[in-house]
Amino acid sequence: MFHGWALALKNIFLPLFCKQCGSRLLTEENGFFCPTCWELSPRVERPFCVVCGRPHPGAVGLGTRSNFACAECRDRKQRPYGRIYGAAVYDGTVADAIKLLKFLDRERLARPLGDLMGEFARRELDCEAYDYLVPVPLHRVRERERGFNQSRLLATELLPVFPNARLDESLWRIRPTRVQSRASSSQERRANVVGAFAVRGDRLTGGRVLLVDDVVTTGETISECASALKRAGVAQVDVLATALAIPGGGVVR
Ligand SMILES: [Zn+2]
Ligand SMILES: [Zn+2]
Repeated sequence: MFHGWALALKNIFLPLFCKQCGSRLLTEENGFFCPTCWELSPRVERPFCVVCGRPHPGAVGLGTRSNFACAECRDRKQRPYGRIYGAAVYDGTVADAIKLLKFLDRERLARPLGDLMGEFARRELDCEAYDYLVPVPLHRVRERERGFNQSRLLATELLPVFPNARLDESLWRIRPTRVQSRASSSQERRANVVGAFAVRGDRLTGGRVLLVDDVVTTGETISECASALKRAGVAQVDVLATALAIPGGGVVR
């Protein structure tokens, strides 16, 4: 009751407007985007690649609901992770929300982004199969500057969806890395993250891990994370990201 009044008063004195379309926000689901813009942001739906998680653009609308590997993943045999899943395409409202989560307001955006991932996980993952949710770590200097690790916030929001999993932070970033840019060559990106991660202790040995990240761009960072986990004896590593950046596809705003 009090909350309802508080919201009504806030709407009168401190009106909020959708960051995407400018319309008045009359709910408090998240303080940034109207429900329409949120719903219109591109979600990953079947069919998508069973390895990298990217939607098959050519196959959309053909009525096929079963997933298959994309040509790129069929050619690449060696990889330290099993599957990458992404709940949305890194574009539009979801991309803006991820930027705001990192740079402005973690409290109000971790919940809707976590919900987005949770909806996808319930639909597409065997949620009972994982023992640990492991956030992609930030280097401690970066984390101190930012005050938090966005991947940990997302993993915390996701925990209720995974009945057998615990949050684990044994994976850590042992040296700082630059932000991975798609403009740099793949060799540069790999050199930037190679050997950057390690696992503390042996708690994860033999376990099934779901790595949690906000955006997967080219996959070098999560490959390095997955390699470190495999070296530590982890039995299975899959990845769940809020969003997948599609090279050459979609406008990244
Ligand atoms: Zn809107
Ligand atoms: Zn693929």
